[in-house]
Amino acid sequence: MSYFKSTRDGQLERAVVDYNRGTLSRRDFMKKAVALGVTAGLAGALATSWSGNAIAQSTRTAAKPEGTYDYIVIGSGSAGAACAHQLAKGGASVLVLEAGRADDLEEVHDSRLWAAALGTDATKWFETTHQKYADNRTHLWPRGNVLGGTSCLNAMIFARGHSSDYDSWAYEGNTGWSFKDVLPHFMALETYEPGGENRGESGPLFVSQPADGRKHPGAQAFMNACADLGYVETKSINSDRMSGQAWVDFNIKDQRRQSSAVSFLYPIREQKNVTILVEAPVIKINFTGTKCTGVTYLHDETPVTVNVSREVVVSAGAIDTPKLLMLSGIGIAADLKSLGIETVADLQVGVGLQDHILGAGPNWETKGPLPVSNYNHSEATCGSAPTAVWRHQIRQSSMSRFPSPRPDTSSITRMAIAFCPA
Ligand SMILES: Cc1cc2nc3c(=O)[nH]c(=O)nc-3n(C[C@H](O)[C@H](O)[C@H](O)COP(=O)(O)OP(=O)(O)OC[C@H]3O[C@@H](n4cnc5c(N)ncnc54)[C@H](O)[C@@H]3O)c2cc1C
Repeated sequence: MSYFKSTRDGQLERAVVDYNRGTLSRRDFMKKAVALGVTAGLAGALATSWSGNAIAQSTRTAAKPEGTYDYIVIGSGSAGAACAHQLAKGGASVLVLEAGRADDLEEVHDSRLWAAALGTDATKWFETTHQKYADNRTHLWPRGNVLGGTSCLNAMIFARGHSSDYDSWAYEGNTGWSFKDVLPHFMALETYEPGGENRGESGPLFVSQPADGRKHPGAQAFMNACADLGYVETKSINSDRMSGQAWVDFNIKDQRRQSSAVSFLYPIREQKNVTILVEAPVIKINFTGTKCTGVTYLHDETPVTVNVSREVVVSAGAIDTPKLLMLSGIGIAADLKSLGIETVADLQVGVGLQDHILGAGPNWETKGPLPVSNYNHSEATCGSAPTAVWRHQIRQSSMSRFPSPRPDTSSITRMAIAFCPA
């Protein structure tokens, strides 16, 4: 199974991706394009436009960016890609610098292979220090190292969170964060395939539910069992009632993951005001006094400084964002001093990190073989308390092992329920 279709267009797409990744020279790209029926003139034009700012380029092959950008977005994950999309739509010049690789891996795009993405170089693993309250063990944390960030390896479950969470933030003084305030933004964000009240119908992020005829029998059995126990089905975990069993909302379209790169960067990547570079790790945010002037990043492993006229968006994820800020002089002054870093701003950076638990719960075996999920191996859920769905959740899963290499294409007999208190 290949990510690229065997059609002429699919093969041309593959040639473009290989060219952009630097694994195909310009001459070989031209040869391949011509062999696929593209005229020599057009192939040359394609190579020229694609070696510019039309598509995510590796710093190994792309020219260094020139001039000053309105905005520089560091990291192209869930947050960064969405920000870049909105800024670019407004007409600003935007440079997206992504430390990780291009997203041309089938493990990233085929929703059934999501756990396999954890075994590729699209994933970067961090190990915690010994945790006192976890029997002194260390924990491994996977994060995205790819265009689209962790949205390329997560389980694709789309959960807004409970309205009371937002209302409590507003209650604590965060104006504009009540559920009433954020709801229009959630609606503008999504295209919700099943439709319904308080759902969006034309946003860049595609959200769906398992379709009739394609639902996994294990998930259906789970839904039936919940009903037998007296729970009442809710139509969506993102509706006004989060308790009860539900078919999950997820970011999957036609068995393809709707990563933040697919949803937010692909639609803008050909705009002239957008430059997206992969393999472009930012090593420092630059300041004159306390005014941010731009960033220094590695372009094909050579430090390059780019200036910004408006803002730098730091969206490098929960671990790398504080790390980068601290390396740039923003953090607790005493800590920075002990490491020989000059303080730009003495701020509480790098404290208060919270994690949610993902644990495997009860497992069972079926009497006979079952098919592989058409979606993400986690099609149904049962929130057992009227709080955020991630807080008290039993999630049906039809994965035979975690993390799994690739789903075996024949059948599975083992089932697991994931219980996620946090
Ligand atoms: C296994 C797993 C399953 C999950 N399942 C779900 C789920 O089903 N539903 C859900 O809602 N959430 C899920 N999550 C959580 C969710 O994916 C993350 O919370 C979210 O993607 C984080 O977004 P972010 O923008 O903060 O960071 P990321 O998406 O991690 O983006 C950060 C980006 O910054 C880049 N970067 C880092 N340092 C630099 C640098 N110095 N210079 C340039 N770029 C840099 C990284 O390479 C990365 O691309 C899951 C997470 C994991 C690990």
